[in-house]
Amino acid sequence: MNKLKRREILTRLRDNDPNPTTELVFNSPFELLIAVLLSAQATDVSVNKATVGLFAQASTPQEMVDLGVEGVKRHIKTIGLFNTKATNVIKTCQILVEQHQGVVPENREALEALPGVGRKTANVVLNTAFGWPTIAVDTHIFRVANRTNFAPGKNVDLVEQHLLKVVPAEFKVDCHHWFILHGRYTCIARKPRCGSCLIEDLCEYRDKTD
Ligand code: SF4
Repeated sequence: MNKLKRREILTRLRDNDPNPTTELVFNSPFELLIAVLLSAQATDVSVNKATVGLFAQASTPQEMVDLGVEGVKRHIKTIGLFNTKATNVIKTCQILVEQHQGVVPENREALEALPGVGRKTANVVLNTAFGWPTIAVDTHIFRVANRTNFAPGKNVDLVEQHLLKVVPAEFKVDCHHWFILHGRYTCIARKPRCGSCLIEDLCEYRDKTD
């Protein structure tokens, strides 16, 4: 795909949604970190249902440590992999309390050192809580980048590198959310909604639907 087409795609996505954000509900970088940690292989809707009660009871790392693994499990048992996630939440909170004064670090290395936090989660937190121009490639972004031929790549790391290279600076902070939302609601996995897609004429997917 050429530069002009990419710019036009991003311009249309921006015009359609000038201030995109995550659909996860959070009130602080800490709550965002925990919500993203819980969202692996789970929908944002299911995470939000669980975190309403969880954050009402524990909205800081110390409060989460005090709640304990079993207390966290009680709130998140409707989410997949909840046993492992509850353990990771508590271990992460212990590290935040002991090594970061109870504050989420604005630092990739420190974030990725937290249990259950990988590159994708770190990218989401750096982007959404701190405004860094990072692009966290999830299943939706991976699909949209490949189908459209905007930034094809064989795996999420290659797509991330490709996007970081080709997305102009002015679009970098929000690109992650535009692509996720586009993949979640229009360019859906099973059958893309090409007939109602605002970038249909620019997309290079060969098997477009009506
Ligand atoms: S035209 Fe179809 S395949 Fe292309 S981005 Fe839109 S929904 Fe996806």
